[in-house]
Amino acid sequence: MSERIAIYPGTFDPFTSGHLDITERAAKVFDKILVTIARNTKKEPLFSVEERIMFIEDATQHLSNVSSDSFEGLLVSYAQKKKAVAIIRGLRAVSDFEFEFQMALMNRRLNNEITTVFLMPHEKYTYLNSSIVREVAEFGGNVEKLVSPLVAEKLREKFGNRSG
Ligand code: ADP
Repeated sequence: MSERIAIYPGTFDPFTSGHLDITERAAKVFDKILVTIARNTKKEPLFSVEERIMFIEDATQHLSNVSSDSFEGLLVSYAQKKKAVAIIRGLRAVSDFEFEFQMALMNRRLNNEITTVFLMPHEKYTYLNSSIVREVAEFGGNVEKLVSPLVAEKLREKFGNRSG
């Protein structure tokens, strides 16, 4: 049987412990996970695609079946090109549901062969998202355990030492 590949798409600006939690769960279910950065020209990210790929590679070193990539355009077209059978998304709370539900149904309409699979992170990550991390770091708050040591260091470099 061929490899069962799943795509985990997102902005990952930056990759957090919540993203890692979802990646680890997905890596147990599928043969191969591609954590893929959606390059969105409308959003101005804090970190470049190259930096974000470096964060993902650093945080997932212990997972031999995980690699990272980036794409632009339609997710289902990218997934098809990569011969993926699934799209992984994380569901933290009911608030994620409506948007995720809409997107999953649209993607299914576009390509019925690719199934969206929702995974729930550990409860301790339900409040965590990349924009909160950026905001806390900007004002000098401690982001340890919310992101990898490498991301924490790069956030400090970006924002300098503004605490106090
Ligand atoms: P987007 O900007 O597309 O929401 P993100 O990088 O923020 O991209 O998230 C990518 C995916 O990871 C989404 O499915 C999102 O629900 C999920 N996710 C984000 N943060 C967490 C978290 N703390 N726990 C679980 N899933 C998460």
